[in-house]
Amino acid sequence: MFKPLTLALLSLVSMPPALATEVVNVYSAREEQLIKPLLDAFSKDTGIRVNLVTADDDPLLERLKREGANSPADVLITADAGRLSRAAEQGSLQAIQSSKLQQAIPANLRDPQQRWFGLTYRARVIFYNKATVKPKELSTYENLADPQWKARICVRSSNSIYNQSLLASMIASKGAAAAETWAKGLVANFAKPPNGGDRDQIKAVAAGQCDLALANTYYYAQMLYGGDAAQQAAAQKVGIFFPNQQDRGTHINISGAGVTSAAPNKANALKLLEYMVLDDAQRWYSTTNGEYPVKANIPAAHQLQAWGSFKTDALNLSLLGRYNQAALIIMDKVGWK
Ligand code: FE
Repeated sequence: MFKPLTLALLSLVSMPPALATEVVNVYSAREEQLIKPLLDAFSKDTGIRVNLVTADDDPLLERLKREGANSPADVLITADAGRLSRAAEQGSLQAIQSSKLQQAIPANLRDPQQRWFGLTYRARVIFYNKATVKPKELSTYENLADPQWKARICVRSSNSIYNQSLLASMIASKGAAAAETWAKGLVANFAKPPNGGDRDQIKAVAAGQCDLALANTYYYAQMLYGGDAAQQAAAQKVGIFFPNQQDRGTHINISGAGVTSAAPNKANALKLLEYMVLDDAQRWYSTTNGEYPVKANIPAAHQLQAWGSFKTDALNLSLLGRYNQAALIIMDKVGWK
């Protein structure tokens, strides 16, 4: 998406090249072009060869489970704390003690048991039709359940881990009963049955099918700056709003990684994770993905900074895993398809 920074910037580590036989096997749910250059830079700097397997999130988790102790995987890279927690709970990730990771990554963006670590974060925010909604009409996630938004909101289905995690954050902050009341009101305000991904919800707002949508920030960045003229035109009709700035802050989630339980190359897996929180790696990875760096001293890409800074919900993201099941039950109960 954004013009990638020159990879020479990544050649920081003055480690002697390891033996040519050194490898690390990575299972990744990220699009290959969004991760491969960083892995190549890692290989160049450390001499450790990276074998990359790319697949969708849920099949990768299934594969890890099936392979069990025989899995050749060393590292899992995927998105959403809810999903990383699921991987940990099914026994596919191991605890890693690393002061480098602990120092680089804020405590709320990694597993308290150190089985997974956030590498970038994204916010799930409100997108509004600039022609029909004024930002001053917007305030909180809670407000989206207000009858004033009847038949005006587009959101993807409850199958999406992003929506499950948003609802889990509501349960963690407000309790299950309040979260259920909210979800019921939100569903009552849907403009149409959930369909498509986050990008489709933003497009639906641009097309006038709804006035508001919930979606992740990087999709909007990709639409605005990814080089597709039609998507850019759609995104330009849509404004971005960061909810709950007066109270707990905007709901965020992570893309992240963990070392697998069966990792045959554990030391190399740890080196890769630590490499991914080096300053230049953070800068490149977050910019390329249109996400925010987890490392506090690294500024976001200027395209993201243009939307303004915002207060993030400080909730420990492991709670999104803890309340995932409760969120699914509520979604089923309130008829969130
Ligand atoms: Fe996504």
